[in-house]
Amino acid sequence: MRPIYLDNNATTRADPAVVAAMLPYFLEQFGNASSAHAFGSEVAGAVKQARKSLQTLLGTAFDHEIVFTSGGTESDNTAILSALDNQDGRNEIVTTAVEHPAILALVDYLRASRGIRTHLVGVDASGRLDIESYRRALGPRTAVASVMWANNETGTLFPVEQLAELAHGAGALFHTDAVQAVGKIPLDLKATKIDMLSLSGHKLHGPKGIGALYVRKGTRFSPLIRGGPQERRRRGGTENVPGIVGLGKAAELSVSLMDEEQTRVRALRDRLERSILQIGHCAVLGDEQNRLPNTSNIAFEHLEGEAILHHMNRAGIAASLGSACASGSMEPSHVLLAMNVPMKALRGALRFSLSRENTADDIDWVLQLLPEIIAKLRVSSPSWQEHAHITASPTRSAELTL
Ligand code: PLP
Repeated sequence: MRPIYLDNNATTRADPAVVAAMLPYFLEQFGNASSAHAFGSEVAGAVKQARKSLQTLLGTAFDHEIVFTSGGTESDNTAILSALDNQDGRNEIVTTAVEHPAILALVDYLRASRGIRTHLVGVDASGRLDIESYRRALGPRTAVASVMWANNETGTLFPVEQLAELAHGAGALFHTDAVQAVGKIPLDLKATKIDMLSLSGHKLHGPKGIGALYVRKGTRFSPLIRGGPQERRRRGGTENVPGIVGLGKAAELSVSLMDEEQTRVRALRDRLERSILQIGHCAVLGDEQNRLPNTSNIAFEHLEGEAILHHMNRAGIAASLGSACASGSMEPSHVLLAMNVPMKALRGALRFSLSRENTADDIDWVLQLLPEIIAKLRVSSPSWQEHAHITASPTRSAELTL
């Protein structure tokens, strides 16, 4: 049995065309982009081309608004710290309770080490941001507002264009962690007021250890990593040229395959979801109308997600508990806690995240196996047995109010 990978929000397989584009930059064109000889200039040209490819994917006005970094985490850290350094007299951050740890761990650290105040704006039961609380949290002390474009656990999309305008209204900068959005939905940054945006190569079939930070022209900026003149002094250190070339190729492919993500991948996700819901006593978590096309987070009541994953894994199917970063810790996901998901569903939430590499056969195989796995686990779940005993006529998934 071919393994089936439905954990693409954790990471994606690098596209073979990405790997092929990178290889020459290890073996033949291995020069340092800063060198004055031919080895250097060839490589500098490739870095320039990759920057242009990202410019097209993001819809930015200028290619020099792209700064290459080591990934999403570095981009997020750079954006927040730079904003704090450059917004005189402002030392507060507004962000959300459902951000990735790349933001949440940083703001925790900044609170403990520098006394920086952070407002964590909450979400409703569908994972939608409480815009009124966001508006109230912004003020004359806000240096930066940072809201993810798409949530990694539920796929819920946030109205970042509107949030950026509100932040500007309060004189604050606006940053978005778009690590999950880039490559999955069309973006046009020049039509927005977003000042900074983070992305990561390995989420869009590019290599790991490479990412970028978009910094709008004119935004005051301080580097996180100081060193040589690379990236116009915005990120020191010899460029990761193979990684940059790979990210550029991944961006090009994402542009040409965006329609497929919006149609075929979305249709596969929807079919998977509809059929799973037929099992009963399960519900979709997140904003169903406003979600990434590839993500489905489904809570199975009275079951442990770990047990479901274990059985799926034995059958060669890889999915994830809430988020890859939280799995293994037995702590319920901070995102689902912020959404007030009821206890009976909290531990049974699974995230299926598809990509353009998935086929209809993959989905058929999952749909053949999963109902059996759920039925078996329910038979041996004391909590389910108790529930089944109490409920004379069990509710159907459509009637659940998770
Ligand atoms: N932000 C979000 C929303 C993510 O999903 C991730 C990775 O899971 C990151 C940031 C971190 O990105 P990287 O792994 O490139 O550091």
